[in-house]
Amino acid sequence: TYIVNDACIACKYTDCVEVCPVDCFYEGENMLVIHPDECIDCGVCEPECPADAIRPDTEPDMEKWVEFNRKYAELW
Ligand code: SF4
Repeated sequence: TYIVNDACIACKYTDCVEVCPVDCFYEGENMLVIHPDECIDCGVCEPECPADAIRPDTEPDMEKWVEFNRKYAELW
């Protein structure tokens, strides 16, 4: 699963949203989020992000961001 972190804030690019095959990006308050249960872990979005804000949830200290992404994705 890939997750968006705060490097996304104020980024104006939506290239990641356009390439996602399962449309699992959602609008948060001031950044995009990924629904952790809908992401199929394809990795296509990661190189599209100019802010390097999309990271795999297997990286250290990602738990907070997984819950943040889930919270905002589930508002939709
Ligand atoms: Fe969408 Fe693939 Fe990125 Fe997951 S890894 S958010 S499925 S493009």
